[in-house]
Amino acid sequence: MAEQHEHTHDHDHDHDHEAESAEQAPVKVIGEEPDLSKGTARPITVVGNPVLHRECKIVTAFDEELSALIDDMFVSMYAAAGVGLAANQIGVDAKVFVYDCPDDNNVRHIGHIINPVLEDLPVDRRTLDDGNEGCLSVPTAYAELPRPDFAAVTGQDKDGNPIRVEGTGFFARCLQHETDHLNGYLYIDRLSKRDRKDALRQMAEGTASYATVPND
Ligand SMILES: [Zn+2]
Repeated sequence: MAEQHEHTHDHDHDHDHEAESAEQAPVKVIGEEPDLSKGTARPITVVGNPVLHRECKIVTAFDEELSALIDDMFVSMYAAAGVGLAANQIGVDAKVFVYDCPDDNNVRHIGHIINPVLEDLPVDRRTLDDGNEGCLSVPTAYAELPRPDFAAVTGQDKDGNPIRVEGTGFFARCLQHETDHLNGYLYIDRLSKRDRKDALRQMAEGTASYATVPND
């Protein structure tokens, strides 16, 4: 997922409060910063690339190759200034995502999850948050997309141990966005026809600030 976007051009929504909170220093970190010396940045796949539009394969081998993939994913995510990245965004057909994402309480969440499954929300947590969303695979586009402000995913860590990750606010949005990726969906697939078209127009008019994989 792309960083929160400060609206400097004419998309008529007011997100100034979000931009301000994102600029405050994080007060707490949950997770460990990755060792970036181990990975290599890879170019990002964009909307239209088939790997983004089908469900990724379940990971069954918790080996060196998986560790190396996670290293590359962190480096690729940071190179593109993202806050979350799914494996198919670097062209790998495997259910893995990484994140380094703030929530709305200035807690910074860092980690990875394999084979994530989004939990059904308890009735008392089904509050929708009207946030702004962007995606490294839809470069330079942003759109308003309501999502539940709480999310929990269960899956495994790189060693195969069961884990559960939960979050609120912008991090909850990230967990949903990245799980969607691994199921073959982009956030623009959840927009109205009109908003989707507008996002694709923004992408066509913009230039990504990072390396992308050209579509045929
Ligand atoms: Zn994305």
